[in-house]
Amino acid sequence: MTEIQEKYQAIASQLVDKSVTLVPVSKKKPVEDLMQIYEIGGRIFGENYVQELTEKYEQMPKDIEWQLLGHLQRNKVKYIAPFVNLIHSVDSLKLLREINKQAAKNERVINCLLQVFIAEEDSKTGMDENELPEAFAALSDLPNVKVVGLMGISTFTDNKEVVIREFRHLRKLYDEGKSSHPEWNVLSMGMSGDWQMAIEEGSTLIRVGTSIFGART
Ligand SMILES: *Cc1c(COP(=O)(O)O)cnc(C)c1O
Repeated sequence: MTEIQEKYQAIASQLVDKSVTLVPVSKKKPVEDLMQIYEIGGRIFGENYVQELTEKYEQMPKDIEWQLLGHLQRNKVKYIAPFVNLIHSVDSLKLLREINKQAAKNERVINCLLQVFIAEEDSKTGMDENELPEAFAALSDLPNVKVVGLMGISTFTDNKEVVIREFRHLRKLYDEGKSSHPEWNVLSMGMSGDWQMAIEEGSTLIRVGTSIFGART
């Protein structure tokens, strides 16, 4: 096995008894690196940039599930709408409406997560939790998007208490949302530095880049 394969397997093996999906985050990494994971059965990849995502989609096998994690500009939705499987980074109702429009053009329903701002110390993107009810209310008019849960990014800090508090808060918002949207099944939280904590706090999907592919330049 290659180093990338070993690192991927080491994390995947810790998830076997749990209902947690490992999404390798391959932004800024070459197709050859992704193919190493494909060769040992990995069929899901997370990317941050629209152009990079579309290029890799074209170059790689067609049975891959592509997920977009990074901030998405409305004018770029059209490039990924034909094939993207899950958009984690829906941070406004305007964006949700545009995804619905482009999904309809492609006769598809696109799975989405609402990204909620949870970080106490960082200026990360995402909706304010107060905006969630408005987004929920709009969904009945958006038949080509399917919201399946929430995503959040914790503060980048060594202070575990801060991170745990943020994850707990997102979990609470997720549970509240799920009570009125029983079809929800994705709570996307946890990255290289904090995925173990995220799973303890109820994550169902972890997004791991550096710990699999190494540092990005
Ligand atoms: C880059 C990125 C990741 C992966 O980060 P690592 O710390 O390298 O694991 C996860 N989620 C999002 C939204 C990202 O942008």
